[in-house]
Amino acid sequence: MASLSSSDVARKSNSPSKRLKPDVVVPKQIFLAVKKLRYFTESKIDIPLTDVLQFNQALSMVEDLIDNNKLCRYFSYMTDSNLRENNFFDPLKAIEHVDQTRHSLMNLCLHMPFTTGDLPDDYSRFRGIQGMSSKHDVIVFNSYMINGLRKNQQYFDSQICTEIFFIFVRLLHELSHACIFDSGRRMNQYNSRRFHTPMTHCLHGEAGWAVERMLFGSKIDAPDYTVDHKFIIQYLAFTDGTPSGVIDQDWIDSFVKDSLNENKLKMVESIECVPYQYLTETLQVKLEGGRKVLAKASRHSKILSFDEFDNETTSDS
Ligand SMILES: [Zn+2]
Repeated sequence: MASLSSSDVARKSNSPSKRLKPDVVVPKQIFLAVKKLRYFTESKIDIPLTDVLQFNQALSMVEDLIDNNKLCRYFSYMTDSNLRENNFFDPLKAIEHVDQTRHSLMNLCLHMPFTTGDLPDDYSRFRGIQGMSSKHDVIVFNSYMINGLRKNQQYFDSQICTEIFFIFVRLLHELSHACIFDSGRRMNQYNSRRFHTPMTHCLHGEAGWAVERMLFGSKIDAPDYTVDHKFIIQYLAFTDGTPSGVIDQDWIDSFVKDSLNENKLKMVESIECVPYQYLTETLQVKLEGGRKVLAKASRHSKILSFDEFDNETTSDS
């Protein structure tokens, strides 16, 4: 089997219409070398996670996003109590606070421990303790999901791109919870709701989903199936609308490869409108192969069942 040179693969990654063929072997060390963390602290990440290549890559993508003023500013509504009554859709207002936001995020990342645990109904979760400093916070990832990631760490293919992207989304989601919780510590009120809810309620009361919506346009689920204590992610779906939308695989591949190979997240003005395809019954059967699939965050993806719509939208590439 032929291996591709790094320049060959870089050229492929720039073309969203081309997928890597399954028989193309790409040594992982060339493209998925473990990056040195700049804002997170390696010693605070438990071994089950440090061993997982996808987790390390996703952390480096989060660090690049923190460097980018235009993307980092979305966290301003979570970190800065002065902004909590301002409109989410006022980007100029948010950018005024971005340096302070970045400083808050870097401080949280520096102290944040990551571990794995039993989370039957969720992929990840932030845990903070009221009355204690942020040094006692922790972000927990579902151990079954992390086990599933170990299955595929050899090839830079669509599956690993999907996994890296989803861990990236979940890190942003939980950091959003961490930010708003920590911001609540600094507020002079005695109301536990302040620890969880953006004051504007503009997009959603759930801070993690608010950031997913601001960055990608919807909250994102990962329907999976379980085998031998492992969750295997099948595809990623936008679940805000009816029906749900299956995120375009070529877009995911391109986004992850450009982020890792070219540090795209440091530079982009915004995350482009993410292409998706409605999740019809026909498409769901095709994607899930008849397996029993669960989506943990929202439990049930919304599926379109109208035959006439089904016929319009199943011409998958
Ligand atoms: Zn959440």
